Amino acid sequence: MAKLLHPTDLLNRLQARTPLLWLNPHLGEALPPDAPHPVLIEDAEQRIRRHEPLLKRLFPELRETGGRIESSLMPADALQLALGHVSDRDAWFVKRDDSLPVAGSIKARGGFHEVLAVAERIARDYGGMSANDPVDYLLSENTKRLFANHTIAVGSTGNLGLSIGVLAAALGFDAVVHMSRDAKQWKKQRLVSRGVRVIEHDGDYAKAVDAGRQAAQSNSRCHFVDDECSALLFFGYAAAARHLAVQLEQAGRVVDEAHPLFVTIPCGVGGAPGGITYGLKALFGQHVHCFFAEPVASPCMLVQLAAVHDEPLSVYDIGLDNRTEADGLAVGQASRFVSPLMKAQLSGIFTVPDDTLYRHLRIARTSLGIALEPSAAAAIGGPGWLANSPEGKRYIQSHAPSYAQSAHVIWTTGGSLVPAEECARYARVAA
Ligand SMILES: *Cc1c(COP(=O)(O)O)cnc(C)c1O
Repeated sequence: MAKLLHPTDLLNRLQARTPLLWLNPHLGEALPPDAPHPVLIEDAEQRIRRHEPLLKRLFPELRETGGRIESSLMPADALQLALGHVSDRDAWFVKRDDSLPVAGSIKARGGFHEVLAVAERIARDYGGMSANDPVDYLLSENTKRLFANHTIAVGSTGNLGLSIGVLAAALGFDAVVHMSRDAKQWKKQRLVSRGVRVIEHDGDYAKAVDAGRQAAQSNSRCHFVDDECSALLFFGYAAAARHLAVQLEQAGRVVDEAHPLFVTIPCGVGGAPGGITYGLKALFGQHVHCFFAEPVASPCMLVQLAAVHDEPLSVYDIGLDNRTEADGLAVGQASRFVSPLMKAQLSGIFTVPDDTLYRHLRIARTSLGIALEPSAAAAIGGPGWLANSPEGKRYIQSHAPSYAQSAHVIWTTGGSLVPAEECARYARVAA
């Protein structure tokens, strides 16, 4: 086989599914010339804030938050202790996107942003909405009738469909979610009960996306949310950065040369963790260090960033099967929109076997009392990789000499909507 990845032994270790920490040799290089302008992050923040009153009217569960789709930054000393890390100068936090309202996962950020942007565009182009119309215009009977003639479709393993489908249907769109047949039954049921059309496909996530994309191409009144290259999803995720900065400040943590910030995020196709990284880099530059976590069976971003050539390379190309219990992360091919950006900004990626996901899921429950889905537990090992592996120590030495005083943010990405029986099953697997 021609050389696919560097360094040379990486291919063997990935094929053997050996958990590893890979450091990105391109960190700090210039972004590609066509990289999107950071002002788009602010646009997304404003779009989301502007529509809070609308979201509040659509979803009773948002009444208390005034329509805000945000999560808490939870101090995680108990998790730190449970994992055997002892230090009194650093601070651990868990960013609780597992409890984001309405959608129950990080997908609420990107998905809601894209649906809102599309709704605005359609209301403008077809409904004559003007810049002066209030956002309730989108809830009027006329607009509802307009939206009923438009389709918003998405291909999804579950969580993206839950976020796109539920909001699109609530706004009155014909909402369609293409799913692989093996997607979780409760996710399908939740969608159907909210008025979403679920179309099942054989094969993996990429097949469902392909089928959805093709169905949409023949219909000019269909917007297909393309997880493999969507800028609107990406900037919805990026908008999370500023609120995290405020939360860190409120927790008394500054981020600067002497107090670096380490953020670890589970990675599927790369939109969510990539957008958040892009947003955080725009705020904190070299003082923030972002790491992704991927299943040993599906390290698609790692494979793409370590590829010797620039062409798309998938986990199947190196002989992996993309089969993992972390259904939100079971993606064979990284986003072609996100990977060139992460090449310049990402610190590294570590890989996680399924049994570690379940172990960390259990530790999160016993130490912090939070219930996660397997994908959402992937980032928990991040600080351990940094502190205890030769690669982690090498990274700290060359990039973060003030590591001892860092803040660690572990992004937990989904779980609050998982039915109790399913949670009980996770607990049994983990025991
Ligand atoms: C989708 C998802 C991710 C990763 O997001 P990508 O944009 O696919 O990289 C992580 N955790 C959960 C629970 C998800 O649903």
